[in-house]
Amino acid sequence: MSRPVPAVFGSVFHAQMPVTAYKNQAWQPVEWQPSQTLALPPGAHALHYGSECFEGLKAFRQAGGKTVLFRPEANIARMRQSAQILRLPQPDAAIFRDMLLQLVRRAADEIPDAPAALYLRPTLIGTDPVIGKAGAPSDTALLYILASPVGDYFKAGSPVKILVETEHIRCAPHMGRVKCGGNYASAMPWVLKAKAEHGANQVLFCPNGDVQETGASNFILIKDNELITKPLTDEFLHGITRDSVLTVARDAGYTISERNFTVAELQEAVENGAEAILTGTAAVISPVTSFVIGGREIPVQNTERGYALRKALTDIQYGHSEDKHGWLVEVC
Ligand SMILES: *Cc1c(COP(=O)(O)O)cnc(C)c1O
Repeated sequence: MSRPVPAVFGSVFHAQMPVTAYKNQAWQPVEWQPSQTLALPPGAHALHYGSECFEGLKAFRQAGGKTVLFRPEANIARMRQSAQILRLPQPDAAIFRDMLLQLVRRAADEIPDAPAALYLRPTLIGTDPVIGKAGAPSDTALLYILASPVGDYFKAGSPVKILVETEHIRCAPHMGRVKCGGNYASAMPWVLKAKAEHGANQVLFCPNGDVQETGASNFILIKDNELITKPLTDEFLHGITRDSVLTVARDAGYTISERNFTVAELQEAVENGAEAILTGTAAVISPVTSFVIGGREIPVQNTERGYALRKALTDIQYGHSEDKHGWLVEVC
């Protein structure tokens, strides 16, 4: 069953979406609605006070014909944590999981041939239609999930130029691990400036020299046999791909160092042959090809380890190698 891959990531959606409303202190039965529009009161809390968070995960159709979800429990747990920090009602884990599985079953036929996937976008929004609630949480909410067939947008060999930003932060430090739209809005001025002034694809946020993450992906330095990445703090997003890459690398015999490191250490390592990768659900792993540090472009000489780790992880996702860590949930 061959289907064309949409040209733009996340631009085509399965016709329907599961929706559940939270009201009267309870999650209501799931309803299936057209995914083209969503009726909301214009005063909805999310639209005024940013009570919104989201998730991103993928389902894969494997060579044998099975369709699997990759680590859905991790995304469910992370959205529950985002909700708690934003004072939104926490989705019920079992209902949420069931919505995901049912949606994948309904949309499975729309997954393009490998290497492609079904990208799932759970979204949680506060819906109280009261604009006087600037300083109070929303008592009502909606959880819905979009499904979007996506290709492998990763293009081997295409440039990934990263501006190293040491003055500005991506978002407020206590919000870093919350997967919310507000953090993306907060990073936008620096991301656009990096593009306009340096032709950079992304910004690596390193406040006071502390290497954290980019606007939408985690960052890992690969120095000989060692993967170096910042330990989990509130300041940045705890990526599921980050965790999966560290695990796959540990299995492959790498030393994993979750520790703070500075731009100076990063620069020295890269000038001496180290690799650097970005990790996230959409592209899995993108090897960095150059950094702009203090106005100077520094090429990254090597990308082989990054490619090999990418293959190790996607091989598990597509069923070409053993799922040793129990990451896959068979859906249909
Ligand atoms: C979603 C996201 C990531 C990557 O998380 P994954 O779970 O690996 O997809 C990294 N940084 C930010 C800011 C994100 O929003």
